[in-house]
Amino acid sequence: MARRILTGDRPTGPLHLGHYVGSLQNRVKLQNEYETYVLIADVQALTDNFEHPEKLEANIFEVALDYLAVGLDPAKVRIVVQSMVPELAELTIYFMNLVTVATLERNPTVKEEIKQRNFTKGVPVGFWSYPISQAADIAIFKADLVPVGEDQLPMIEQAREIVRRFNRLYGKVLIEPRAMLGAMARLPGTDGGAKMSKSIGNCIYLGDPPDVVRKRVMTMYTDPKRIHPTDPGTVEGNPVFTYHDVFNPDKAEVDELKARYRAGTVSDTEVKARLYRALNAFLEPIRAKREAYANRPDQVRQIILDGTRKGRELAQETIAQVRNAMSINYSFTHSRDRTMDRARNALSHVWKTVHEIMTVPSTGNIAICWFCGAIRSLRNGKVREFTVDGRNIREVTTRPIFVDDETSANIIGFDCAVPDSNIDLDYIESTIRGIPEAFYPSVD
Ligand code: ATP
Ligand code: MG
Repeated sequence: MARRILTGDRPTGPLHLGHYVGSLQNRVKLQNEYETYVLIADVQALTDNFEHPEKLEANIFEVALDYLAVGLDPAKVRIVVQSMVPELAELTIYFMNLVTVATLERNPTVKEEIKQRNFTKGVPVGFWSYPISQAADIAIFKADLVPVGEDQLPMIEQAREIVRRFNRLYGKVLIEPRAMLGAMARLPGTDGGAKMSKSIGNCIYLGDPPDVVRKRVMTMYTDPKRIHPTDPGTVEGNPVFTYHDVFNPDKAEVDELKARYRAGTVSDTEVKARLYRALNAFLEPIRAKREAYANRPDQVRQIILDGTRKGRELAQETIAQVRNAMSINYSFTHSRDRTMDRARNALSHVWKTVHEIMTVPSTGNIAICWFCGAIRSLRNGKVREFTVDGRNIREVTTRPIFVDDETSANIIGFDCAVPDSNIDLDYIESTIRGIPEAFYPSVD
């Protein structure tokens, strides 16, 4: 299968230097080798901007302009608008069953973002659970590579877990994605904050005109302990030098500035003025290309519509496979035919009788699946099925044994899926020893 990239951005404003070094640069580099889908995640943007949905349309346009300006080629890359692919919402709902509340609560990026945002009425469920919808975004396009900034690593890990879980439960349909970090995994903000971020407003945008770039650079946070140009300054962790390292191609100039800064022989103003020059040279061609596309809005809209149509086709293909694997592609045929279908699709249990493995003489008709720990008993014309749930053995279903015993043995209730944690067979054994009556209720 073709190698595929999915990545994206929230249309909460135009894109900035952090996006460029964190992700855009890799997308441009890899667009020739990978089939690339870039998602403008407007549904995700709503999770913390739901009071202002009217801003999305203009922002989607701005983000698309930035993509084209940095060199994403519309002949190769599909720009997809998230809300126009409703299959993403469907997959998100299925994925919600595969993640625990505790796991969501542990996500360090979401925790940090919740702190930054002022959710006066509490954290919306949509925001708190956005890693699940992001997993659906990645999975539906069957991407194997996701170029992202460092803040997104927990999201990719979450997506991997969900995909593994899905594939184990329902059959191998989805692809486990890998994250790819950019040249600068986390570009700090102009305010010295850990991350340049649209929602914080500490950004230099790719489309900013020269005078705005100059103003943002000249007011940047530097070494706060340095009062006079003659004070020795600190280079490490100083965002002005971080930007020099990333955006100034003249390494000799950067080294010289660092040496003079440490020695106290250069002013902050000069260091910043030279940064402005380097940054402006970097941004100039991007700005020009952006303006050219901005003057052809119909062409940009068409690029978005074409990309979204192709993206949706792929999403529809995947969601059909997902429904199929989950056995929710109902055909409402005769029930016995359905049973046979299910038996064919199911991952079979590997039954071992308790008699075989535990030498409990009276329990020869009780079997445990060696993979998933499901327990069944066959007696008096009935199949009973149990699961071990915490410290209890819980009866899940009772049904008559079908004519075809083999089928009946393998398809009862749920399909075999290896659980996340190891099955504690000793525990199951001791529980069965303790309450053998549970398996022998009187049946007529
Ligand atoms: P918002 O504040 O609305 O969340 P954002 O600036 O964080 O906006 P996103 O649209 O959330 O931008 O992120 C899109 C992509 O850009 C992600 O892969 C993210 O990791 C990357 N990215 C964003 N900011 C930076 C940064 N400062 N350094 C490196 N990568 C970044
Ligand atoms: Mg973000």
